Amino acid sequence: MTGALDLARLPWVDVASAVEKGVLAVLPVGACEQHGHHLPLSTDTDLGGGVARRTADALQALLLPAIAYGDAWNNEAFAGTLSLSPDTLRATIADIGAGLQRMGVRGMVVINGHFGNRGPIELAARALAQVGLPVLHLDYPRLEALAAEICDSTPAGPGFYHADEVETSMMLALRPDAVDLTRAQPEYPTFPPTFGLEPMQLRAFNETGVFGDPRPATAAKGEALLSGIVTENLHLIAAWRDRHAI
Ligand SMILES: [Zn+2]
Repeated sequence: MTGALDLARLPWVDVASAVEKGVLAVLPVGACEQHGHHLPLSTDTDLGGGVARRTADALQALLLPAIAYGDAWNNEAFAGTLSLSPDTLRATIADIGAGLQRMGVRGMVVINGHFGNRGPIELAARALAQVGLPVLHLDYPRLEALAAEICDSTPAGPGFYHADEVETSMMLALRPDAVDLTRAQPEYPTFPPTFGLEPMQLRAFNETGVFGDPRPATAAKGEALLSGIVTENLHLIAAWRDRHAI
C-alpha cells in the first residue's frame, strides 16, 4: 500500500494493523474564516488539509479528518466566520492526541492552516508531550522565503498572508473549483499602531477581508509553494523522529 491512510475512510481493522506497524498520525487544523470576496470560508481548512495530505502521502501516515474550525476571533465581524475559543481548540487537539495514544499511535504531527491556532496547538502539544506522546506542530515552515521567491506581489505585512497571492495560488493548486478570480481585488490596509498589542477586529481597518493582492495568483505558483512547504515538513519530521526514535 502507498500513500496516506485516510483514517475516517478505513475499516477499523486496517487502522489496527497500521498502528501495529508503528504508523504516525497527521492532524490538519483549519478554520471557518472569511477570505475576501473570491475565496471560501473553508480556505484554511482546505490548505491545511492539502498540505497534510501531501505530507501524509510521503510518510504513508494515518491522515486524520481536519478540524474545520479554529480560533478566528478577530475575523468575526465578517459574516460566516465561526470560531472556537482557544480553550475549546486546545482541548479538542489534546483529546484527539490522547485517543491516538491509547490506540497505540507513537507520534502526532499537527499541520496548522491558520495563524490564530498557534497558541492552542502549542499548549495541547505540551500537555501531550508531558504524558508521553511526541507532537510536532508545523506551520508552513519557510513560507516567508518561499513566498518571496515564488510570488510577485508584496505581502500586506511581514509574514502576513491572508486571501492574497500566496493563499489564492495554493487554493488554485488544491481546489480550483472553489476560487473565483473574477472577484479578486487587492487591499493593503493601514495597520493601526497598536495592531498585535491589543484585541482588535480586523474589519475595523480592512474593507474586503483581503490582505495583499490575490490577482497575480496561479496554480503553478501554488504548486511550487506547496512542494516547498511539504519538503520542509518532511525534513523537520525526519529530525523529530530521530529525536524520539519513532
Ligand atoms: Zn487563510
